[in-house]
Amino acid sequence: MERREDLDPAMRRRFQTGRMCLDLTHTGGKGEAARWEILHEPADASRFLGVIIETEPPVVVQPDMSSIRNLREAVSDLARSRAVGAPEPAGSAGAINAAAAEAPLVPQLVDSSRRLIQGNAKQALSTIARDAVELFSSTLANRIRICAADDCGLLYVDTSRPGTRRWCSMDWCGDRAKKRAAGRPVRSGDIA
Ligand SMILES: [Zn+2]
Repeated sequence: MERREDLDPAMRRRFQTGRMCLDLTHTGGKGEAARWEILHEPADASRFLGVIIETEPPVVVQPDMSSIRNLREAVSDLARSRAVGAPEPAGSAGAINAAAAEAPLVPQLVDSSRRLIQGNAKQALSTIARDAVELFSSTLANRIRICAADDCGLLYVDTSRPGTRRWCSMDWCGDRAKKRAAGRPVRSGDIA
């Protein structure tokens, strides 16, 4: 199993939203998000779904790729509309519900901790869609934010008590903002 902690820092920060459904949106997408694309082949999708869900990579075949992209777009559209207080995009909730209605990955107890056992792409997407249903129907949905750095655009859930967190990660965009304020050189915010 590949853990997010083992990824290099530029890649790792895509998967630090604290929610697997939001992490999925950081694997690429349409329009602006196309430059972030890392799910080119089923092997890429298998690898990163495994990282996001914290399980062995699920079995992904070519026809699954459109289902993965559809769920990713639905979650991204809904999260970004919530973050800016825009009306809910048509079809997003329906796409999430359809994926959630499939059988999810099966959780098991292994050495006293919860693990999700390996399955196929449909099961993996169901697990992620159920996370989205939970997030968007909870009070945390009001805490979905877009990183304040102009050149970033990553999503996160602000779980800070006052709800005033501005950056996707303190050790990346937060650090860059601090350096910028101090007149020191900063690295690009573009995700690798
Ligand atoms: Zn950021």
